[in-house]
Amino acid sequence: MNDDIDLKQYIDNIPDFPKPGILFYDISSLMRNADAWQLATSRMAHAVMPWQPDQLAAIESRGFLTAAPLATRLGCGIIMLRKPGKLPGETVSLSYDLEYGSDSLHIQAEAIKPGQRVVVTDDLLATGGTLAASIALLRKAGANVVGASVMIELAGLRGRDKIDVPLHALLTYK
Ligand code: 5GP
Repeated sequence: MNDDIDLKQYIDNIPDFPKPGILFYDISSLMRNADAWQLATSRMAHAVMPWQPDQLAAIESRGFLTAAPLATRLGCGIIMLRKPGKLPGETVSLSYDLEYGSDSLHIQAEAIKPGQRVVVTDDLLATGGTLAASIALLRKAGANVVGASVMIELAGLRGRDKIDVPLHALLTYK
């Protein structure tokens, strides 16, 4: 695939999903195109490489899809950050506020060796609440969070302001 290709043409923009008034940026359409997906994930891996992570932390659920190809390319492990009740064994958790109500994320207590370099990844950064909570959870579990990588950043929502580690976004929308 031509390296200059504009990957945004592969991202479907779906109005009124999951609620009226929300414009949903869907990576499914990008993933269906093997060449576009290869290019997108290889560019993300390239940006993350200088941070030299020991582990990639993947935010449920679309972050699992960005983490897996990145980890394979970078030769590092993967840690899942999951909603309650999904992980076996002892977990470390953190609750965070949503627009309406709250949610929590868990990781396995044994997942991180103290001081391990961790890069956290997700498909999309909107208000930044999910990514900021993920970074706080990883620190609570002993990680040295050295960066964050998202496929899409909705810059107008200023989520980046909540993130206190270097952040790479492959595609930025206003
Ligand atoms: P935030 O916490 O930054 O407001 O929301 C980010 C989280 O919501 C991410 O885990 C992301 O998967 C999901 N999300 C919010 N809006 C969208 C969207 O337009 N497209 C996709 N694919 N995910 C979204």
